[in-house]
Amino acid sequence: MTHAANRDSDSCIIYQLGSVKLLEPSKVTPTDISTATREGPPSFARALEHLRPGDAISRDAALRLIRCPDEHLPELLAAARAAKEHFKPRIVTYSRKVFLPLTNLCRDYCGYCIFRRDPGKPGAHTMTPDEVLEVARKGEKLGCTEALFSLGDKPELIFPEMREMLRHLGYKSTLHYLEAMCELVLRETSLLPHPNPGLLSAEWIARLAAVSPSMGLMLETASTALLAPGAAHDNAPDKVPARRLRTIEEAGKQKVPFTTGLLIGIGELPEDRVETLLAIRDLHERYGHIQEVIVQNFRVKPAIPMAGWPEPSQGEMLRTVAVARLLMPNVNIQAPPNLSAPYYEELLGAGINDWGGISPLTPDYINPEKPWPHLEQLRLRTEAKGFQLRQRLPVYPEFLPGVTAKPGLLSQKLQSAVDHQGFARRAA
Ligand code: SF4
Repeated sequence: MTHAANRDSDSCIIYQLGSVKLLEPSKVTPTDISTATREGPPSFARALEHLRPGDAISRDAALRLIRCPDEHLPELLAAARAAKEHFKPRIVTYSRKVFLPLTNLCRDYCGYCIFRRDPGKPGAHTMTPDEVLEVARKGEKLGCTEALFSLGDKPELIFPEMREMLRHLGYKSTLHYLEAMCELVLRETSLLPHPNPGLLSAEWIARLAAVSPSMGLMLETASTALLAPGAAHDNAPDKVPARRLRTIEEAGKQKVPFTTGLLIGIGELPEDRVETLLAIRDLHERYGHIQEVIVQNFRVKPAIPMAGWPEPSQGEMLRTVAVARLLMPNVNIQAPPNLSAPYYEELLGAGINDWGGISPLTPDYINPEKPWPHLEQLRLRTEAKGFQLRQRLPVYPEFLPGVTAKPGLLSQKLQSAVDHQGFARRAA
């Protein structure tokens, strides 16, 4: 696919992506959008008609836009970018983090996962408290402010080896161990934990919220079709959409700043992506706790069950990001840069306002073949598009007051980590 920047005859910069021209987002105004859509086919034009930046589109509009033809992609992206600029003008954020794969044992077998291991297999590992602290301290020296705990879901339920490991460490379950490690990092370092442990009960959300300002669970998809034999979530009991939605809802009831998102290209239809986004939007409308929606694209790897699966195209990724932005114009939308490298500018042009967690120390254990971008590179390329790159904490600025209001160690640590605008004080 070709990739070049040109200047259009009407002085609006465009990107050429093969046959697709992308309008330079910073040049887009609501007038541009309405003018452009007048020329589109009726269904596409109706989807963006009268849309003002900040307005959320309807389900019907999202269903039209998610399959818009290539020639209308520029208008869709322009609308999304205008919405982003209305929400958070001129700023794009990231979180400088260390990645702590507390255990890669997992009771699920997702078809796209290269992270999980069975006990005894090469690379199977559960981190010790010393290892956790060592990585966190190294990250602290490199200016990191987030300790992202990623781990398999409840491995002790099917593996006696994990039960034995937990007994040896002195904990009843993986979640008890996770809670202790979040507390250890919080107490001993300046990093703020952000756990991603899978499904959680109301009790566990409350317990983890006492030692971490935010947490996350990717919804991934609202489609139950992916649970069918041979599909991506066959043999993944923790990926039943209704169960994941219950965890996200419970976090909402407890007002926990929550990160979620969708994984595209794992067998779902474009319409399923819309339904997944709508399910997230619905929960956010009810509880107001979704601090971030991640749009993650499936990347193929040789050693996974889905090794022969096609990756979603760049056009699918951009459409999904843009539709996410338009469905939730006032929610932080993130896309991992390493999974779309080198096309960072295109993601910015589709309406993201955050690059997610980037580590100067640890690899992306979920996609180890895709290195994080060099932070200076990311900064330069983000700034070249007219944005200021700001380092945020794992909890977004607008969600901080709810967390700092509760007295205790977490609140103290947050207050010493944050600057007057809600970003990271020790920004590196
Ligand atoms: S994606 Fe998560 S839940 Fe699925 S197998 Fe991998 S670690 Fe387990």
